[in-house]
Amino acid sequence: MDATPLYGGIEAGGTKFVCATGTGPDDVRAEIRFPTRGSTEALALAIEFFRTQPKLPSAIGIGAFGPVDSDPASSTYGYITNTPKEGWQNTDLVGPVRRAVGVPVVFDTDVNAAAVGEHHWGAARDVNTFLYLTVGTGIGGAAIIRGKRHHGLMHPEMGHILVPRAEGDDFEGKCPYHGQCLEGMASGPAIAARWKMAATDIPAGHIAWRIQAHYLAIAVINFIVTLSPERVILGGGVMQRSELLPMIRTIVLDRLRGYIRRDEITRHIDSYIVAPALGDRAGVLGAMALAAEAL
Ligand code: ADP
Ligand code: ZN
Repeated sequence: MDATPLYGGIEAGGTKFVCATGTGPDDVRAEIRFPTRGSTEALALAIEFFRTQPKLPSAIGIGAFGPVDSDPASSTYGYITNTPKEGWQNTDLVGPVRRAVGVPVVFDTDVNAAAVGEHHWGAARDVNTFLYLTVGTGIGGAAIIRGKRHHGLMHPEMGHILVPRAEGDDFEGKCPYHGQCLEGMASGPAIAARWKMAATDIPAGHIAWRIQAHYLAIAVINFIVTLSPERVILGGGVMQRSELLPMIRTIVLDRLRGYIRRDEITRHIDSYIVAPALGDRAGVLGAMALAAEAL
């Protein structure tokens, strides 16, 4: 008898969906990926995937692009709410999956799910309070506090903290609500708008990366002093630029000015601010890790 439960995961991304079953990163039994078009089609494909597996998962986790309603006590729990994305406004993801597959479903934002995945299987296995920040098309943050995903009034919106300008940066910012918030200054599209080329095309050594490191370091400092995380994980497409992480560590140390007197930061910053460990499958593995919370 196999004692480990089989988890199902749905990474419901704005660009692509990934569905998988398995018991962990080394044992993904089946997986499908498809581009995100309409919600009816995406739900049908996901449900069909689980229903045609040789063994149904014991529970399914869904990590979704937002904004979402992730309050289990709410009547619209499991919904994608007021997204600008065509055809996805007020879409119930949990209800149809639970009814069609007949197993418990746990739901949260994609970034909260990814953080739970890193906690179970990745770069935060040995800590219980940590920050996971993803820097991609948007910027999102998840706080795991004493092992639990932090929710309050709603899920955190850490990408929208206000940040002081980098010296010499006169970019007006790209957030439609705040202009110059972290996401408005440092998301992939913000970088592209500032430098008039895709972030992926900006060469190593370009001043863009020093400015980028400034904004992310400021954000990390603000989250260190507010959340007191035992580790900070920085992921997302933009963080694939390998020069960013060392620059961010240096600026964080410099601008904290020795105020937080903990060896984890002052002596071991390389293992304090780190890259995620789950790579390409982080999203769907995070969703599978969420499923574990139902069992
Ligand atoms: P999403 O946030 O859409 O889920 P990603 O985390 O991959 O997806 O982020 C996509 C963004 O990251 C894009 O703006 C892209 O330009 C940027 N990006 C992806 N790879 C790189 C890279 N190697 N260097 C710089 N920017 C990158
Ligand atoms: Zn904003």
